[in-house]
Amino acid sequence: MEEASLLSLPEGMRVEHIQSTDYGLMIEVEAVHPTSCCPLCAQSSDSIKTHYRRVLRDAPCAGRQVQFVLTVRKFYCRNAYCSQKVFTERLPTFVKPWARMTIRCSEHITAIGLATCGKGGARLAARLGIPTTRPTILRRIMALPEAPSASVVYRGIDDFSFRRGYRFGTILVNLESHRVVDLLPDRRAETVAQWMRQQPDLAVISRDRGGEYASAAREGAPQAIQCADRFHLVKNLTEAVQVLLARCQGEILAEPKPDEPGQEEPNKPVIAIEEWRPPEPAHVEKVRLARRAGRYARYQQVVELGKQGRATKEIAGRLGLSDRTVREWLKRGTFPEAQKRRKKQSSFDPFATYVLKRWREGEHNGLVLWREIKKQGYTGTDRSVYRYLKTLKQAEVKPSFTSQRLRKYTAATTLWLLVRDPKTLNEMEREDVTAFCQASTSLKKAYDLLQDFFSLVHKREGQRLESWLAKAVESELPELQSFSAGVEKDKDAVKAGLTWPINNGMVEGQVTKLKLIKRTMYGRAGFALLRQRVLHAI
Ligand SMILES: [Zn+2]
Repeated sequence: MEEASLLSLPEGMRVEHIQSTDYGLMIEVEAVHPTSCCPLCAQSSDSIKTHYRRVLRDAPCAGRQVQFVLTVRKFYCRNAYCSQKVFTERLPTFVKPWARMTIRCSEHITAIGLATCGKGGARLAARLGIPTTRPTILRRIMALPEAPSASVVYRGIDDFSFRRGYRFGTILVNLESHRVVDLLPDRRAETVAQWMRQQPDLAVISRDRGGEYASAAREGAPQAIQCADRFHLVKNLTEAVQVLLARCQGEILAEPKPDEPGQEEPNKPVIAIEEWRPPEPAHVEKVRLARRAGRYARYQQVVELGKQGRATKEIAGRLGLSDRTVREWLKRGTFPEAQKRRKKQSSFDPFATYVLKRWREGEHNGLVLWREIKKQGYTGTDRSVYRYLKTLKQAEVKPSFTSQRLRKYTAATTLWLLVRDPKTLNEMEREDVTAFCQASTSLKKAYDLLQDFFSLVHKREGQRLESWLAKAVESELPELQSFSAGVEKDKDAVKAGLTWPINNGMVEGQVTKLKLIKRTMYGRAGFALLRQRVLHAI
């Protein structure tokens, strides 16, 4: 293969000499095309005036740095009307006039800069055989051309923070190409409106529920349909329910509801369902009792020796116990029973309540019950079921009190329980939802409204919005009433958001990406650099 094509040199260039040095490859190249075009009048010329040499850095080759020593020529322009009498030949695909590196080398540096940051980029480039500096990288990024502003019909808009909670900017995303179209240095209505005025094709604007973007769109793009973003709507509603939940918490945990009357049999032990554990196998029990007997005997000895006035150290030495154990036993005065181990959670536990319910309904067949819970997602064997039934025969197992069972929920997990699609809940969780709803009527109302709203959002039934709002107002729950009042103010956009398929999901994704870029820049870069990096993100 000819060297010139191997090195991807443009046509009309010939490799004269390749020299391997300690620093890499030094390649002498000469431009040999017989003619060149004047950059001013574009007329071709073949009268060479002089030669001169340029030294250019290139992208590395086979892991070695590459330097070109390029001989180029100056030509006379023979066009009598052209003001340019002498011109230097141009190699537009290879190197820019006056540049010290090839175009491809410069592109490598830009790509490294966009993927990393100034300082880290310089370090990485050096490792890859392209020595450069931080200012060069930043200059390359800033020199990237503006993307041509194609007309964008579907636009998503959102804010992002320069410093969390302090200063905000605006990000605009093309909802069709999923690309960031622009970043604006703030989120004020005038700035955004000004920007929108230059976009006459704007037809749909998907935005959050903030008033600034709404008024910006009214000002700058009155022709466009505004869509309130579904994600923000759901978020607002969830926040309202969170407040309501905090208010109802007291109501929920107040009185433990009396247990449903069981078929109490006085001579049966009573076990709370959470405490249920499979009966101990005979051989395990034997070992445990033997161990206890040994311990008890030693305890008696300790007490005896203690009564005789022996020193702790002496007792410990004699009986082969630690000083600490002896001291504690003497202090205690009663035999310390070995502590019961905490009940290990088993995969059967979530189904214990269900099986208990079926047992009370009269279903005592282990195999049938096993099949029933298998359908609900139980993956264990039927052995646990039989062991549980054995316990049910011997003892009175109590279903937990509502408040006890709900106490395990924190504010966050309760909210999560309530906002999930009921179809994805398991039997136990479904019962917990029911328990919550039984414990508080406000919560019951809120839960029904919440789930109805989610189904409206998922099915995009914007036409049902009015009746939902009416129900929310009738609910007399202040939190939901204030949510509805907010929606009422922005009703057209909300309705559009609940009807149109577009949403701001991808804008959120772009904000996440922007945050990542911001972090690699350690937050020190100015807005202009951030904008370049986001718009040209790879
Ligand atoms: Zn000319």
